[in-house]
Amino acid sequence: MISALESLLLAKDGPMTAELVRRPGDFGLGQVPARLAPHATARSICGFCSTGCSLQVHLNDAGEAINLTPDPEYPVNLGMACPKGWEALTPLAAPDRLTTPLQRNTATGRLEPVTWEQALQTFVSRFKGIQSAHGPVSVSFLSTGQIVTEEMALLGALAKFGMGLRHVDSNTRQCMATSHVAYKQSFGFDAPPFTYADFEESDVLVFFGANPCIAHPIMWQRVMRNRRNPEIVVIDPRRTETAAAATLHVPLRPKSDLTLLYGLARQLIVTGRVKREFVDAHTNGYEAFASFVQAFTLERVAGETGLPSSTIEHLAALIGTRERVSLWWTMGINQGHESTRTAQAIINLALMTGNIGRPGTGANSITGQCNAMGSRLFGNATSLLGGYDFESAADRAHVASVLKLDVDLVPKEKSWAYDQILDGIDAGKIRGLWVIATNTAHSWINQGRFADLRRKLDFLVVQDLYGTTETAQMADLVLPAAGWAEKEGTFINSERRIGVTRKVARAPGQALSDFAIFKLVAAAWGCGHLFRDWSSPEATFRIMRELSRGRPYDFTGIEGYAQLESSGGIQWPFAERDDTGAPSRGDRERRLFADGRFFTADGRARFFFDPPRPLPEAPDTDYPLLLNTGRGSSAQWHTGSRTNKSAVLRRLAPTTLYVEINPEDAARLGIQAQQPVVVASRRGRAEAFALVTATVAPGQVFMPMHFEAVNRLTFPAFDPHSRQPSYKCCAVRLELPKHD
Ligand code: SF4
Repeated sequence: MISALESLLLAKDGPMTAELVRRPGDFGLGQVPARLAPHATARSICGFCSTGCSLQVHLNDAGEAINLTPDPEYPVNLGMACPKGWEALTPLAAPDRLTTPLQRNTATGRLEPVTWEQALQTFVSRFKGIQSAHGPVSVSFLSTGQIVTEEMALLGALAKFGMGLRHVDSNTRQCMATSHVAYKQSFGFDAPPFTYADFEESDVLVFFGANPCIAHPIMWQRVMRNRRNPEIVVIDPRRTETAAAATLHVPLRPKSDLTLLYGLARQLIVTGRVKREFVDAHTNGYEAFASFVQAFTLERVAGETGLPSSTIEHLAALIGTRERVSLWWTMGINQGHESTRTAQAIINLALMTGNIGRPGTGANSITGQCNAMGSRLFGNATSLLGGYDFESAADRAHVASVLKLDVDLVPKEKSWAYDQILDGIDAGKIRGLWVIATNTAHSWINQGRFADLRRKLDFLVVQDLYGTTETAQMADLVLPAAGWAEKEGTFINSERRIGVTRKVARAPGQALSDFAIFKLVAAAWGCGHLFRDWSSPEATFRIMRELSRGRPYDFTGIEGYAQLESSGGIQWPFAERDDTGAPSRGDRERRLFADGRFFTADGRARFFFDPPRPLPEAPDTDYPLLLNTGRGSSAQWHTGSRTNKSAVLRRLAPTTLYVEINPEDAARLGIQAQQPVVVASRRGRAEAFALVTATVAPGQVFMPMHFEAVNRLTFPAFDPHSRQPSYKCCAVRLELPKHD
């Protein structure tokens, strides 16, 4: 193991991509700016959001990145990038990059540098010690949607098949678990059906709880390319940037979306706008659903959503009469206490109007992180590696045979979800935790609890680029990881497009790619032999490709990274042969379900529904306002651990926490614009300055999630099906700070 470590450190984690890149002219990409002209470029998929833009990284003669520009030929971003993409190289050079492993000195309480040998020895001895005292279940990991798919697959396989861990999860629970479960139940597989061309080909686009203007700016640019003069509807309690740019903003009461969706379904039925041929031929459960929604009369829905009846009738008419209607959702839906049924209520509308499988249509979940889709397929948590089922003996046997493993190493049950793992820590069942490329102490709902849970952990390992994140600061052991552009692998974007990210920079000091760290852990743990064939990210890609054979996401037609690069990425499915036996065609834009066949056993989509439930924490006299949280600007990414490193991005985004307050509430409470206030919930307090604005309705306030204090306030409610946290709605009050 040590010799492997030495050679890794010497080679710093494998070759640069320099030998794989070509001069700009070889790509037919047009001219690189003159100041960069002498050098080659590498194409790399951006490592922030799920849009999956391709960036051309310009290299010096040593093959190292010196700058980047957006790729004009990539079918996703068409030469565009948002501020985060333009600044993607900057966080790599931050002064607080980890350059060595750090271990907490129990005498001084400080994190101090140690060698990789010491770090691995501590990792193994502490976690194995916990397992032998408390059982294999007593160690867990919490991972991320930010690392490449090959690393996710290796981590999931190492943890469950090699280390014997049982309960693992990732931060995709915080953003995409709802879409995963909703699609799986409704379509038979977690399969977002759309392609980005649908933004340009719709007659009506309805955005539910989505703010693409700042959350997915390049997707919004694709909407702006639509030449069909579309209606753009935004359904959101808050007048977001996208709502302001839409043709219709529907400002419903917070979390009344499920009621509205059932009311729209009823309205489609009573006005005779259901596409019965499609429903009869391609779905199950419609009659029960149609009967269920009869209770959602116009009067009831208007009363519960706060919307005029005429708006509901108009919206139903738009959805029911226009030829191409696409329905898009993101965190405003996914992060709710009844989020799975709400996402499925959107899917139900698409099914009953036949808006699926055709250009400009679809029930379309926009993903969050750059590789949340990779995590959904290969995280090995809720689903067995590759989207298989832990509870199926046939699936376990198949996965074990592809991986050349003893089938008894494959667990028979799926993992606990993120919140259940934290509950397991609270109950003393989980005593060791490995946190990889996520920042639980900042981002988890009601985060104050994590500090208490930390004290219950016997051993906490954090693996990240920086030792300065809130979670790394609490760790016993910190492992230094390479970041985007310092390693290679694939991401899967929102439209199911698999793209390659390339190594064009060396990680500082002794930082290693997550892939290399997992290999070293495997060797140190004594299970490295299980992963002999996982010799590199691309070798791992070939293993994943074999797991995909015959599955809905079959990508056996992809030969390797070079083909992905030269094709502009490839959307799954892309099997070796199509239904006629001919080799698959690499069309640049492909959507699912054009033939009306879904991935359920009988090929039919299913209607799911449940009665709406009350808010988990409604406002009352003590806490009379509803707090909504969300993305604050296109220049900030989640907890800011990377974007805060860029001076450019810091200038484009607020650097101080603010709270949006409606002018009526501000006047009633005597709060002036820009004044410091305290936002208090039953769980914590946050100081912010008052942004007095009509973007929020009276009785509601909004705060951006990028600031650590915000999740001191949020209420820990979870959707019962996806166990995704409900970040969007809790009760707070405003106080004026006390002065001495
Ligand atoms: S839109 Fe997303 S993928 Fe594209 S450049 Fe910005 S952060 Fe990167």
